[in-house]
Amino acid sequence: MSWDERQRRMLAELGIPPWLVPAGPPAAAGAGAEDGGEHLPPDAPDPVPVAASAVADRADPVAAVPRGAPAAAAGAGAPVAAPGRPAAVAPAPLDAAPGPRPGRGGLAALDWPALRAEVAACTACGLCQGRTQTVFGVGHPQAHWMIVGEAPGEQEDRQGEPFVGRSGQLLDSLLQSIGLTRAEAPPQRQVYIANTLKCRPPGNRNPTPEELLQCEPFLVRQIALVQPRLILAMGRFAVQALLRSSEPIGRLRGRVHRYQGVPLVVTYHPAYLLRNPLDKARAWDDLCLAAETAAASDAAAPAN
Ligand code: SF4
Repeated sequence: MSWDERQRRMLAELGIPPWLVPAGPPAAAGAGAEDGGEHLPPDAPDPVPVAASAVADRADPVAAVPRGAPAAAAGAGAPVAAPGRPAAVAPAPLDAAPGPRPGRGGLAALDWPALRAEVAACTACGLCQGRTQTVFGVGHPQAHWMIVGEAPGEQEDRQGEPFVGRSGQLLDSLLQSIGLTRAEAPPQRQVYIANTLKCRPPGNRNPTPEELLQCEPFLVRQIALVQPRLILAMGRFAVQALLRSSEPIGRLRGRVHRYQGVPLVVTYHPAYLLRNPLDKARAWDDLCLAAETAAASDAAAPAN
């Protein structure tokens, strides 16, 4: 199926009028007044327009070695120019210095079963008291694409799986439109999905900085185990954890960032898109950028 045909199908499936899809490069800077997350505060500030594409590479003391992707060779701050996209020209500002890490030094040695058990038993923050169960993550353990969301909602807390319910269905449709799935498939097609927080905040409130900080080492270890070739960060708190940026999604999307050398694309959380369907067109643009970037990574990486 051609790209144009796939795009037409996806737009029809998501109910997006073709005229809403911007022509040419994505509308990155300052598009939309939103935080793009699942947990949307009513007084989210309007984004301020920023200059064209830039790449951010967050320095992180926790080891996560990319699997031979070109991202690894590019190094910190190296620009990524996706085909047909404006080249990245400068590092994006990171406005929050990394805080002290919780004492989780042992996580770096854990394999998947041990990490899952560690999460299931975790009582490092108060969210453990209200959870039905932890929501660890699902998907291919060596997926080329890793999807990072925010925090479990009611359905996720009940089922123990990220992105279920209506937002999960929308995510599945978005993934399907670019040939990806959460169902069993080779690592090129089956994604790995994880949330930034593993326990549900009560009443779907925003997670606190302390809760995010306590839980982040689990996500860091998941990324290190998966070694994805592309990370798709969905929503404000995923972005805060991975890029150490509190800028609105509208200012961060439309360009390729880096996390530990891995290309990272920012987009809206599906729950936000359900509330703001007109932004599905921008989400589609983000997916196109992610797909182009992942294709470039795959082309340069060893066969898997
Ligand atoms: Fe532990 Fe994370 Fe749950 Fe807090 S949210 S109790 S850090 S697993």
